[in-house]
Amino acid sequence: LYNQVQDLKGSIRVYCRVRPFLPGQANRFSTVDHIEEGNVTIITPSKYGKEGRRSFTFNKVFGPTASQEEVFSDTRPLIRSVLDGFNVCIFAYGQTGSGKTHTMSGPDELSEKSQGVNYRALNDLFLLSEQRKDSFCYDVSVQMIEIYNEQVRDLLVTDEIRNSSQKGLNVPDANVVPVVSTSDVLELMKLGQRNRAVGSTALNDRSSRSHSCLTVHVQGRDLTTGAVLRGCMHLVDLAGSERVDKSEVTGDRLKEAQHINRSLSALGDVISSLAQKNSHVPYRNSKLTQLLQDSLGGQAKTLMFVHISPEPDAVGETISTLKFAERVSTV
Ligand code: ADP
Ligand code: MG
Repeated sequence: LYNQVQDLKGSIRVYCRVRPFLPGQANRFSTVDHIEEGNVTIITPSKYGKEGRRSFTFNKVFGPTASQEEVFSDTRPLIRSVLDGFNVCIFAYGQTGSGKTHTMSGPDELSEKSQGVNYRALNDLFLLSEQRKDSFCYDVSVQMIEIYNEQVRDLLVTDEIRNSSQKGLNVPDANVVPVVSTSDVLELMKLGQRNRAVGSTALNDRSSRSHSCLTVHVQGRDLTTGAVLRGCMHLVDLAGSERVDKSEVTGDRLKEAQHINRSLSALGDVISSLAQKNSHVPYRNSKLTQLLQDSLGGQAKTLMFVHISPEPDAVGETISTLKFAERVSTV
């Protein structure tokens, strides 16, 4: 099986992606000094280190000019292993504004070229299952949820879907919707985004303070033997990882920040104990790791895209993001 080839490369991979400067800010000084193979070197103000330069090593580093297609190309083997019956988690981590949603969903104005990992992953799933249609029959279905303040909310809710679909497997009570094409998936992603936007304003952008997870369930039946394979893939756009200053926020904002902090460090703890092959893996410490338990560890594959911003004033967050990434990495 394809997974065996993948095993040689390890089950946890960390890719770093550097966002370009936003339009109108080009040619400014970048905190990313240089990128070489799997290394990224950051220039730090003296308070972050003597040399003023720090290098981090990952499985791969994508620079500011990397296209969506390039970023996805190394993810393709994982998609194949889902069809072979394995579980996969793909995470986007980073501070708000560093490009997580760009990587997973693409920009607001979408074109074929700018489509993100979510769309490309599903597109590949459908293409591969079509290629195998003489030997396998695949059923694909999706769920979309949001985790906000440790509460899970189903994002695929309309009256129609609520009445017609079966109930969730990995995520109890969340609708599971069968899909047969990428256009079905695009429709559902739009619905999920509309539902997600409910209750948030531009100033109060909930999407940066909640985790969203698109889960794809695949069931394949071998047409000769009748054997059934089940695999699933979770595509997770995490809440912004920035630390908030406790002296500056209060009330709901502080509560949100504490939930985010706790769940991101719980995720870091789980992945790093898997990377170190510890016997105890602390899945129970957050909703996110509880929900993904079956797809983290064991035979499952984990890929984390860690995002950093090039602006000098983000350097503190950039360093703590890279330290987090280093902690979960096996390089
Ligand atoms: P996040 O989800 O981490 O808060 P976004 O994905 O919303 O960040 O990105 C912030 C802004 O930067 C958006 O306007 C987005 O279109 C832009 N952006 C992010 N990554 C890239 C990239 N690789 N290329 C071009 N624009 C990007
Ligand atoms: Mg986002």
